[in-house]
Amino acid sequence: MDYVNIISGIENLIRNNLRGHDTGHDWWHIDRVRRMALRIVREEGSGDPAITEISSLLHEIYDKKFSGAGQKALLKKVNRMLPETGLSRNDIDSIQFIIQNISFSKGYSGEGIAPEFAAVQDADRLDALGAIGIARAFNYGGYAGNPLYDPAPGGRSTIAHFHDKLLKLKELMNTSAGKKMAEERHAFVVEFLNRFMDEWQQSG
Ligand code: ADP
Repeated sequence: MDYVNIISGIENLIRNNLRGHDTGHDWWHIDRVRRMALRIVREEGSGDPAITEISSLLHEIYDKKFSGAGQKALLKKVNRMLPETGLSRNDIDSIQFIIQNISFSKGYSGEGIAPEFAAVQDADRLDALGAIGIARAFNYGGYAGNPLYDPAPGGRSTIAHFHDKLLKLKELMNTSAGKKMAEERHAFVVEFLNRFMDEWQQSG
């Protein structure tokens, strides 16, 4: 199978299985992660583009939030599909390792990880920062029924998620290309938070 066919087969599988899913993990998130991960690999000058692109397309399939009734069937299909592409056993193992360990909670990062893993993880984290990251967080919060902000100590809110997770991401970046972009996006998030709190105070 040629590269274009492999990619479009995986793309179609993912797009069809994402229908009706909450928009924090929608197709455009996956597409942004794919394009950003490929950009990072290009800028860093290391990492295999095919492993990077396929892992990006598949990076959400093990996510708990993805789950639902269809997750098992999807995993089965992917496991059947990957060997049919003609990719080597080694490449498939690399892809499987990335997609099974990408999530924030697994915490694989830093020294020694494969360049493709580093790129996909950085791209995923970058998508949680900046204007898009802010939009995704409030979208998620709305979906989960959380308030924008809760001034009570320990209150569950989207602003609390900024402190719990988003503001920590820039320290966790793997690549120098990723770090640079994360710093810019982080600064924008801080600016947004300051402005949000100012406006909260303005109402007295
Ligand atoms: P990942 O895609 O790295 O697995 P998550 O699934 O935890 O990350 O989050 C997906 C998106 O939803 C991110 O943009 C994240 O900031 C946002 N998100 C996750 N949990 C919350 C929350 N409790 N409140 C607001 N946004 C959240």
